[in-house]
Amino acid sequence: MRISVNADNREYSVQIGPGMIKEEGLFTGFRNAAVVTDETVAKLHLDTLMAALERAKVRASSIILPPGEEIKSRDRLFDIYSGLADSLIGPSDAVIAFGGGTVGDAAGFAAATYRRGVPLVHCPTTLLAQADSSIGGKVAIDHPRGKNLIGAFYQPVLVVTDTALLSTLPKEHLSSGMAEVIKCGAISSGDLSAGDGDLAHTVYRTAMIKAGYVQADPRDTGIRRELNFGHTIGHALERASGFALLHGFGVSMGMAAMARIGQDMGLTEPGTAERLISALCAAGLPTQMENVDRDAFRAAMLMDKKGDGETVNAVFLKRIGQAAVAAMPIGELCDRALGLCR
Ligand code: NAD
Repeated sequence: MRISVNADNREYSVQIGPGMIKEEGLFTGFRNAAVVTDETVAKLHLDTLMAALERAKVRASSIILPPGEEIKSRDRLFDIYSGLADSLIGPSDAVIAFGGGTVGDAAGFAAATYRRGVPLVHCPTTLLAQADSSIGGKVAIDHPRGKNLIGAFYQPVLVVTDTALLSTLPKEHLSSGMAEVIKCGAISSGDLSAGDGDLAHTVYRTAMIKAGYVQADPRDTGIRRELNFGHTIGHALERASGFALLHGFGVSMGMAAMARIGQDMGLTEPGTAERLISALCAAGLPTQMENVDRDAFRAAMLMDKKGDGETVNAVFLKRIGQAAVAAMPIGELCDRALGLCR
C-alpha cells in the first residue's frame, strides 16, 4: 500500500505493508546513511534494516540511544549530531529514524538542523509512529519548560512503514497507538473501531486521514489543528506525570475530557462522549483522569505551545466524525478539565 504526500513543496511516498523494510529498491539512491534508533529497537530489528541497506549498497552506520522520552533532550540531540558528524553525513545522504515517535521526533529535528538540513527517512516501528507521527513533518525535542517546545516542520523524503515490526511491540504501546487511530475516526471518518486485526489496514486508513490534513494545511495554521483533539489536556497530563504516562494514554483521557466538556458547553452532540469513551475503553485505553498533580497539570496547561498563554485553540467534536476548533481561555479549559478529575 502506498500513500503519496505533497506538503511544503516536497512530495514523498509512504510505503506500508508487512516486511516493507526488506523490499528491494527502497533505499537505493542514498550513498551513506546514519540509522538513529533506540536500544530496544536495535536489539530486535536493527540487523534486518542494516542487511537491507547493505543489499541496497548504502554505507550505513548506527546511532543507538537509550529508549524513552529522554531521547528528545538536548544531550541526546547532541549525541545524534556527533554520530552524524562521525559518519560524514551530507546533503546526498540520509538520516534514517528507526523507532517510535520519540526517535522520529529527535532524529527528525537533528536532520532538519544538522548542516542546515539533510535528507530524512522515517522507518517507524510503533503503531503511533506508523499511523501518525512519521507523516506530516513535525519534528521536535522537549525543553524542561515544555514538551516539543523546540521544533520545526521538516518533511521526510520517504517513509518506510513495515507493519510486521509491530509484532514485538508491547501491548500497552499498541493500545497507546490506538488512541491516534480512534482520534482520526472521531474527528474525520466516523469509524471508531480499532480495526479488524489487520494492522497494515488500520495503519493505512489512519495514515490516509493524517496525510489528507497535512496536505490541506502543512503548517498547522488551520484545519490541521483538528489533529490536536485531546492533545492539550493529554500533553499536560503527560508532563504532570513526569512523562511516566504513555502519550496515547494522555491523549485518550484528553479526548474523553474534551468530549465531556463539549457536551457540558452545548458544543457537542449529546451521547458523543459516551460513544467515544466506549471505543477508547474497548481498545484498552484509560478515559478517566485520576490522581492528577493539579498544580503540575495547571502549570503544564499554561505552557501549552498551541496557545498564546491566555487562550488556546481547543478542539471539540461537533459529533463523531466532525471536529471544530474554538479559541477558549486556557484557565477555563484547565478548570473544566480539573473538574472532571477524580
Ligand atoms: P516511543 O518512541 O517511546 O516508543 C515506545 C517504546 O516502544 C520504546 O520503549 C521503544 O523502545 C519501544 N519500541 C519501539 N518499537 C518497538 C517494536 N517494534 N517492538 C518493541 N518495542 C518497540 O513512543 P511512541 O509512542 O512511539 O512515540 C511517542 C512520542 O511521539 C512522543 O514524544 C510524542 O510527542 C511524539 N509524537 C509526535 C508526533 C508528530 O507528529 N511528530 C505525533 C504524535 C506523537
